Amino acid sequence: MALVFIALGSNLNSPFLRVSQAITDLSAHRNLRLDNASGLYRSVAIGPDKQPDYCNAVVQVTTALNPESLLDILQDMECQQGRIRAKRWGPRTLDLDLLLYDDQCIESVRLTVPHERMHERAFVLLPLSELTPSNFRLKGQSIRQLLAKCSDRGMVEKIDGSPAII
Ligand code: AMP
Repeated sequence: MALVFIALGSNLNSPFLRVSQAITDLSAHRNLRLDNASGLYRSVAIGPDKQPDYCNAVVQVTTALNPESLLDILQDMECQQGRIRAKRWGPRTLDLDLLLYDDQCIESVRLTVPHERMHERAFVLLPLSELTPSNFRLKGQSIRQLLAKCSDRGMVEKIDGSPAII
């Protein structure tokens, strides 16, 4: 069995409902065991275009699936929940990223694990910090050290009102 962390994000079509529903769907999947879920966070969209704020979260899952099969499931869920079906190329309203798969480093056509941008994104690191032990390291650094270098660290807040500070 592998210990896996998955990031969830949405900024369209009721983002908080989309992320909450995706967590429910992950917990209901017969090949996944949801061990833990972070709180929900609100983050300002990064990028040149003005976009609605995102809702973000991270979950911890145990699974016997290999990484590519897990990615298939995540991409199916993105399609089922995340696309506005009325439009053929409607906006994707759900993003599911495989952050970590045990301590494996994967470089394949379809997968880069650890996710290649996770160490520089506060909207990933803050929810992840709720689920990882204090001795957790990524690229040899603690989450606190990585967060200090994140350009978006002032743009992420926890939705229940508690401060997004570790
Ligand atoms: P995005 O549009 O950001 O959701 O990117 C989707 C693409 O990223 C897909 O083609 C995936 O094969 C690829 N990808 C590479 N590494 C990962 C990962 N760790 N988690 C999810 N998708 C990944």
